[in-house]
Amino acid sequence: MEIKGSVVLVTGGGNGIGEAVAKYFAKQGAKIAIVDMVQENIDRVLADLKAMGAEAIGVQANVTSEADTAKFIQATLDAFGKLNITVACAGIIRDGMMLTLDKQTGKVARKLGLDKWQPVIDVNLTGTFLTLRDSAEAMVNGGWPGLLVTISSVNKVGQIGQLNYSSTKVADALMPKIIIGEFMLRGIKNIRCVGIAPGYTATPMLTGMNQDALKAILKDVHLGRLVEPEEIARLIGHCAENEAINATTLEITGGLCYPGGIAK
Ligand code: NAP
Repeated sequence: MEIKGSVVLVTGGGNGIGEAVAKYFAKQGAKIAIVDMVQENIDRVLADLKAMGAEAIGVQANVTSEADTAKFIQATLDAFGKLNITVACAGIIRDGMMLTLDKQTGKVARKLGLDKWQPVIDVNLTGTFLTLRDSAEAMVNGGWPGLLVTISSVNKVGQIGQLNYSSTKVADALMPKIIIGEFMLRGIKNIRCVGIAPGYTATPMLTGMNQDALKAILKDVHLGRLVEPEEIARLIGHCAENEAINATTLEITGGLCYPGGIAK
């Protein structure tokens, strides 16, 4: 797939990895649609993209909403007449242990509530599903070469305190296999699907954290530093250009190794 002239849609494009993906593809000559919740963030990235000389639009939308999803797909088609690459970057964390015990009695004092469970499922799982589903619909009906990208995480192996997040990220990692299996059954040949599973990445969420905690995290990373969002963007660019990459999820972690298996 040629990136130059392609139309790239990035959810969560107003920040972090999504912002880097949008800017990477813009540099390669793609036309960009970014989707995010906060208009201010959309405006900032859009100004940067336009300063780079890119054709770009921004849509304020919530990926958990079917109506919003239909709206941003249509806005992309209205602006650029086609859709080639969709990167579903919108994601959130709401960490917490399933059970918190009272130190004195040893009995359960608190449970992980639906207030922390449901939003993570809604954004990371349902949001990704809706974004991919409606992007695929446009790509099938348009007949353009297409690539669908899910963003998983190495936390798909299971991160203590992230039962909600890890549950969604294992699903995001599995989607490419299931979707491409369905496309094979249906004879849909023009669309590929890959997942990207980043390790600890230098987005504001991590760079702003306690520096001692950050050092502890990096002890498990062979590279000895956080992955840069631009490095993830470059991998997605490579996936776009190399059509042999399909129906799989690729890790990009700098060599993250948990001696005990499950993430601490
Ligand atoms: P980020 O900087 O927080 O960016 C995510 C963006 O998605 C934010 O702009 C956020 O808006 C937006 N968003 C959240 N909910 C949304 C919704 N319902 N509709 C539309 N947009 C929404 O996070 P990031 O670190 O770049 O993460 C991007 C993806 O990579 C996520 O799926 C994350 O799970 C995954 N990932 C990240 C890391 C890492 O170390 N950073 C590692 C592995 C995987 P708000 O700011 O308004 O919430």
